Amino acid sequence: MAAMTRKLFVTTALPYANGAFHIGHMMEYIQADIWVRVQRMRGAEVHFVCADDAHGAPIMIAAEKAGKTPQAFVAEIAAGRKPYLDGFHIAFDHWHSTDAPENHALAREIYLALRKNELIDVRTIEQFFDPVKGMFLPDRYIKGECPRCASPDQYGDNCENCGAVYAPTELKHPYSTLTGAKPELRSSEHYFFRLSDPRCVEYLKTWTQDGKLQPEVANKVKEWFAEGDDGKVVLGDWDISRDAPYFGIEIPDAPGKYFYVWLDAPVGYLASLKHLLERRGVDFEAYLADPALRQVHFIGKDIVTFHTLFWPAMLHFSGRKVPDNVYVHGFITVSGDKMSKSRGTGISPLRYLELGFDAQWLRYYIAAKLNARVEDIDFNPDDFVARVNADLVGKYVNIASRAAGFLAKRFAGELSADVGVEGRALLDGLRAHSGTVQQLYDEREFGKAVREIMLLADRVNEYVDAHKPWELAKHEGQRIGAGPPQADGAPSAGRAAGAGGHGSALHDVCTVCIEAFRVLTVYLKPILPALAQQVEAFLRVEPMGFADAQRALGRHRIGAFQHLMQRVDPAQLERLFETPTAPAPAHPGGEAIAAEIAIGDFAKIDLRIAKIVLAEEVPGSDKLLKLTLDVGEGTDAQGQPLTRTVFSGIKSAYAPEQLTGKLTVLVANLAPRKMKFGVSQGMVLAASHADEKTHPGLYVLEPWPGATPGLRVR
Ligand SMILES: [Zn+2]
Repeated sequence: MAAMTRKLFVTTALPYANGAFHIGHMMEYIQADIWVRVQRMRGAEVHFVCADDAHGAPIMIAAEKAGKTPQAFVAEIAAGRKPYLDGFHIAFDHWHSTDAPENHALAREIYLALRKNELIDVRTIEQFFDPVKGMFLPDRYIKGECPRCASPDQYGDNCENCGAVYAPTELKHPYSTLTGAKPELRSSEHYFFRLSDPRCVEYLKTWTQDGKLQPEVANKVKEWFAEGDDGKVVLGDWDISRDAPYFGIEIPDAPGKYFYVWLDAPVGYLASLKHLLERRGVDFEAYLADPALRQVHFIGKDIVTFHTLFWPAMLHFSGRKVPDNVYVHGFITVSGDKMSKSRGTGISPLRYLELGFDAQWLRYYIAAKLNARVEDIDFNPDDFVARVNADLVGKYVNIASRAAGFLAKRFAGELSADVGVEGRALLDGLRAHSGTVQQLYDEREFGKAVREIMLLADRVNEYVDAHKPWELAKHEGQRIGAGPPQADGAPSAGRAAGAGGHGSALHDVCTVCIEAFRVLTVYLKPILPALAQQVEAFLRVEPMGFADAQRALGRHRIGAFQHLMQRVDPAQLERLFETPTAPAPAHPGGEAIAAEIAIGDFAKIDLRIAKIVLAEEVPGSDKLLKLTLDVGEGTDAQGQPLTRTVFSGIKSAYAPEQLTGKLTVLVANLAPRKMKFGVSQGMVLAASHADEKTHPGLYVLEPWPGATPGLRVR
C-alpha cells in the first residue's frame, strides 16, 4: 500500500536585491534547507523556492547612483547569489525575481480580486516631495532637526539622539538626503488595502490564533487585535501605492501609480513557484488547489506583520490558498553583539568560504543553536571551535576512521553478516531513536536533535572504547599466527572471509562501528549533505533516507575510506573577524570600505579643482609643504587671482618643483585649521595605504587634462 505522499511548498523570505547576502540570510536559508531535506528524506514531495525582492525606491536610487537601469542593477545582484547558495549547500529548486512577468501578472490579479471584493480605497494624502528630484520622498530620505532636542541630521521618523518618534512633517529644517533640497508638502492620491474592514479583522483574528504560528508570535499578534473603547477592533488600512518615478509594478487603471514593494514582494513566492512548476509541466492552479498541499514560509522576526496580517488577508480575499505555517526565527549575533562591519564583528559568508572553511561546520553550528522559538542565536568563536572539533569531528566523524582501516586490511572491506548480541543491541538502540530525531527536526528543534544524535555518538564511542578494536587486531593477528597485521596484507582478507565472518570479534566490532556510523550519518544528513554524500560513496550505498537507517547492510563490501572532515584551526578562525585596521585582502589599500553614506552626505563635501600656483618647503618641518592654490575664487583689486594657503603632509613624496603649476583636488569647505606654521585653508587629496609605515607611498590626485581651477568635483 502506498502511503500518502506529503506535499510541501516551502519558501524563505525574499532578500532585498540591493546588496550581497550577510550571515543572517545564510542562517535563515540553512534553517529552511535542513527542514526541507528532512522532509525529503521522509519521502515528502517538496517545492522549495525563493526570489530576489527587486522593487522599490532604494533599489531605484541605488541603480541610478551606479549609473545602471534598475533591471540591470538587480540582475547583477542576482548573478552574485549562486556562490553563496552553492557554497553553503542551500538546495532551492528555483530562484526567481519579483520583477519577472509571472509576478507582474499575479500581483495585478490579486489586486483586481481585492478591488472586486471592495477592499481597495483611494484617498488623498499629503507627503513630502523633493522638487529637485521630482519625486515623493520615503521617510528614510528625509532628514532634519529633531523637533524635541534639536539634534541636526535626524531621520524622518525618529531621533537617534533623544529617541523621539515623530512624523517627517514635524522635523525642523527638513531636507532631502537625495539632493539636499527643502522638501515641499504636496498631496497625492494613494491606494489603500482596507484591512480595517470587519471581514478582514474577523478572518485574521481566527487565522492568527489557530495554531499556524508559534505561540509567542500568536501572542504578539493578538495585541494588535486589542478592542478599543467602543468594543471594536480596528486594524489600520495599508497604503499599497507609490507615485512615479518608482521601480515596481504599475497598478491597473491607475497610470503613474505603482504597487508599494511590500505588496508585490510576497507574491514573489507564488511567482517563483509558478515559474518552477511550468518548467516541470505541472499546472500551477491545480497544484495549489490540492487540499493536501502545505504552504510554509520561513521568515525573520522583523517581517511578522507583513506575513501574519497583510499576506494572508491578500490571499484569502483574492480567493487563494493561504499559508499553513509561518515559522519565525530570531537574528544572529556575533559574540553577543549585533553584527557590525565597522567594529569588525561581521562575518562575511563569502569570506568564510574563501578562507577554505567547510560550509558544513557553520551548518552544524547553526543547527546546534537553533530551536523552534523566536530567539536570537549567538555566533561565539570559541563555542564554534569546540562544537565542531570536539563533537562533530571528535565524536562522529572519527567513528568511521576507527574501524575502516581494519575492515580494509583484514577483511577486504567486507562487513560481517551478523554482529552478535551486544552489537545488535547497540544498533537497535540507535535505530529506535529515528522517530524522535525526525520529530525534533520536523518541529525545528534542531539543537535538541543534534544533542540527541551526539548522545548516540557517545554510546558508539563507549562501545569502541570497551572493545578496543586496535587490541583485538593485535590479539587476533597473533592468534591466527600470521604476524603483525601490516605484514600479512591481502591473504588475511581471504582467511577472514574463509572463516565465514563469525569467528572474528574484530570483524564484528568494526562492522558495528560502520553500521552505527551509517545510522548517525542518516540522522545528520540534513545538516551535512555533502559529507553524507561522501559517506554514501565510501559505503557504496544509494542516497539514504531515514528508512535506510532501519535495516542492516549485512554482508556488504564498502569502499576505501577517505578523510571526511578537517578540524577547525582556531588561528584560522581569527581571520574571519578581521577589523578594518587589520585589513582584508579584497582592498589593496589595506582598508575596509567606510560605512555607507547617502548622496546627500557626499554633497556636503565641496571638492574643487585647484591649481598649485606655488609649492614651497616649510622651514622647521620635515613633513609639510606649503601650497598656494588658485581655486577660481576671482581676483583681488590688483587683478591678481585670489589664492588659498594649504599646508599638506606630502613632503616625503614630492619635491616642491614637481608640484608647482600642476592641478589637483581640494576639499574647499573644510573648516580652516590653525597650525604651527600658519592657517591651512582646506585639504589637498592624496591616496595612501592605511599603514604608511609598512606600505610607503603617497599619491596626490591630479585631474585629467582640460579641467580648470574652481570646477566642482561631483
Ligand atoms: Zn531628538
